[in-house]
Amino acid sequence: MHFNLYNTITKTSEPFIPNDPTSITFYSCGPTVYDDAHIGNFRSFLAADLLRRWIESPLCTLKIGRSPDTETHTGVRKVTHVMNITDVGHMTEDDNADGAGEDKMEVAAQRIKQAQSKKDGSVHKAADIDPNDPRAIARFYEQRFKDDAIKLGLKVAVEAQTDPTLMPRASDHVDHMKQVIVDLLNTNHAYTAGSRAIYFNTQTFPNYGKLSGNTLDQLKGGAGGRVDDAQQSEKKHPADFLLWKEDPSHKMKWDAPNHPDCADWQQGYPGWHIECTAMALARLIPGGLDAAKAKHSTIDLHSGGEDNIFPHHECEIAQSCCFTHNDSFANHWFHARFLKVEGEKMSKSKGTMYTLSDLTEKGIDPAAVRLELIKTHYRANADFSMQGLKDSARRIEVWRRSVREIMACIAHPELEHTYTGHDFVTRFADALHDDLNVALGISILDLIRGSVSTGFDVDLNTENALKAREARIKEIGKTIALPESPMSSDVAMKIVGDLSKSDNERSLAAIHLIDSVLGVIFRPIEKAQDTGIALYQPGVAPSPEIEALLQQRADAKKSKDFATADTIRDQLAAMNLSIMDKPGGKVEVAPTN
Ligand SMILES: [Zn+2]
Repeated sequence: MHFNLYNTITKTSEPFIPNDPTSITFYSCGPTVYDDAHIGNFRSFLAADLLRRWIESPLCTLKIGRSPDTETHTGVRKVTHVMNITDVGHMTEDDNADGAGEDKMEVAAQRIKQAQSKKDGSVHKAADIDPNDPRAIARFYEQRFKDDAIKLGLKVAVEAQTDPTLMPRASDHVDHMKQVIVDLLNTNHAYTAGSRAIYFNTQTFPNYGKLSGNTLDQLKGGAGGRVDDAQQSEKKHPADFLLWKEDPSHKMKWDAPNHPDCADWQQGYPGWHIECTAMALARLIPGGLDAAKAKHSTIDLHSGGEDNIFPHHECEIAQSCCFTHNDSFANHWFHARFLKVEGEKMSKSKGTMYTLSDLTEKGIDPAAVRLELIKTHYRANADFSMQGLKDSARRIEVWRRSVREIMACIAHPELEHTYTGHDFVTRFADALHDDLNVALGISILDLIRGSVSTGFDVDLNTENALKAREARIKEIGKTIALPESPMSSDVAMKIVGDLSKSDNERSLAAIHLIDSVLGVIFRPIEKAQDTGIALYQPGVAPSPEIEALLQQRADAKKSKDFATADTIRDQLAAMNLSIMDKPGGKVEVAPTN
């Protein structure tokens, strides 16, 4: 079996065949950092992360070459995954094919100014930023994005802490964009127009429309208002899109590309689509900005949300292919579908465009958010719900408990309690090889807990003995600390296949191997928060309401009013909180399982 992945450009599930199976290039369109990313954005980023983790897993087999009987590749594999940060104030109307619209940084500046002028005492998260400094706005939201991405286990964000070139900023690559634009002007794939704009000439690229189905013929008719009338008259075709625009009033601006056709232009800014072409070429193709060296080059994988398919990726393909003189830019295009919330379209007015902080402030473990966002197949519309989030948190807790109990059984072989879930890795791999069927993969992980051999037949005589043993394992399990990261996949793979190891050791390694793809079980342990009155365990966020109840309870206990103290305990239980009195008068608050 080998990995088949749906390819948006061919519209079929087909073998994922990289140029070099040991070193894979993957570009993901990243966030525009003018506001906090919401869970819908993260669904697409996490789908890409899951894909990357799967390709890196030793469980993943890739096909080599396109003929039917060619070999496959398993083993050590490096994925260079790049996710850009769009920090140039490009336009708000991203679905506008010609790049018209409002400057997003200008929108952010207005929003911050409004928040700062509010007299109601509410402090906006961005209150300290100078709204007139677009770079400060971008840096602020970039950092917030990276913090959230790390909490959600996005590997690219973790790696970018030591190698920032994996998350390049568009504003650092404007010179590279200009290099590509000059080449496109020289090769007549681009032209300058009267309003001092540079457009890509879509009629010079016959494959335009192949990805999205929006062919030039269809777009001629206006394509549902996707193009801006004001700019139509100067274009050669309605689908032609902006590569550069002179605009000295734009928030972020640079000198015009170095070309005779725009020699006397004032400062301006690049179009959105050209950003990703330049960064993908610069970071993933050796010598990629030299048109001669980049000739016929492709990257292996390119991802984005389904809203990126048109116009962004269609335009990116056109520019890139004309620059590299190739028919394709990425061998495989990967797009995750939209996220719904509580069965409906996400909406700002309904308050359902949750950010990660909105959820963690409620005491929700980021691992539960991750599982909730990856658990549905990436090509199905996922439905995010508070109930689903609770279920995901519970599921992870069960997995973690299983791990601790298997570790207890390894430490106490005399208990003769054996898990035999090691073979499930094959079933997990089969699921993921089939177009990343993560829902099936997760259900297979669920099975490991029940895969127990007790060493005797369980009947009425032995049932109590088994129950006592399980209780003991549970007790020992509670004292075992969970590792904060999965063991190396290669080590885990060896242990799973090593018959000299015990079944428990092999089953534990199987869970490590699976979790290095899912990324939800072995995580940095969150520390308890101490508020003076109480010690809040991970999963509960302190709130004035809880603090007030705990204070009332402490007062009631002091005056020996135990009835009131018990009532408050019940009130907290109704809020899914359990409390435990600690020596020194403090109370430990934990989520009720
Ligand atoms: Zn992009």
